[in-house]
Amino acid sequence: MKNQTVIRPYVGRFAPSPTGPLHFGSLVCALASYLDAKQHNGKWLLRIEDIDPPREPPGAADAIKRTLESHGLFWDGEVRYQSTRSEAYWECLNKLATLDLTYPCNCTRARLAPLRGCYGGYCRRNPPSQNEPCALRLKVTDLPAAFRHLDNQIEFYDRICGLQRENLAEASGDFVIHRKDGLFAYQLAVVVDDIDQNITDIVRGDDLLDTTARQIFLYHILGHTPPTYAHIPVIKDSNGNKLSKQNHAPAVNDATPLQNLCNALLALGVQPAEGSIEDILNEAAETMSFAQNASID
Ligand code: GLU
Repeated sequence: MKNQTVIRPYVGRFAPSPTGPLHFGSLVCALASYLDAKQHNGKWLLRIEDIDPPREPPGAADAIKRTLESHGLFWDGEVRYQSTRSEAYWECLNKLATLDLTYPCNCTRARLAPLRGCYGGYCRRNPPSQNEPCALRLKVTDLPAAFRHLDNQIEFYDRICGLQRENLAEASGDFVIHRKDGLFAYQLAVVVDDIDQNITDIVRGDDLLDTTARQIFLYHILGHTPPTYAHIPVIKDSNGNKLSKQNHAPAVNDATPLQNLCNALLALGVQPAEGSIEDILNEAAETMSFAQNASID
């Protein structure tokens, strides 16, 4: 059979963790992924990544939805809550374990700290006893025979950042997909849902660029085609720090959506049109270009 390129209808998403209300940086990310979906006549989904209850103040998910709505960023279909998806995550974890692609790890922070984020496989060589709390790690090297053809040297083309290469053995090592505290790891949940929701295009902040190779590896392991990625420069404060809750970035003011949208568009290198929220969004969906954004960083 000849090779065929399958064109999949564009499905994008905004996937905030409800650790607080949206700040300007997250509004810019939401806007960029929304406009890209509209530019491609695609769908734009909203997924609330609420898998870390201790970090989620009550009401944050609702506040995020209100902010999106007040800025005219209406999503398609029902909101997905990751807190309702445990069964799917367990199913994936069990499948990976059955395929001998995972192993338990009880390494403490003290043992991990000097490794600077790249796990050397201690618990793979020294299996912990089964009756203590363990994380579950996904193997990226010396895979079982059926997976030996998979490369842990990941290469992908980012629409904004260009060609990216990451050797997982050197960058992350075997990585956590289920946490020691019993919570599902972001890496697992994000890929299980992106696959389940047929996401074709991911537009998000470039603070997540270095998580992407691990996600692509999971796609390969699970036998799915990874989406296309565009990582936009994260918004920084005047001290050069990423806007975040930790840095006390203020919540977006829902009472001034026009002004916020114009500022967010300028941050994306788009000159805002005049008119209503709808006019501004429609016009911006036609004019936004990621190629230009790469140079405004
Ligand atoms: N939930 C993640 C966050 O808020 C983003 C997930 C993603 O876009 O892949 O940082």
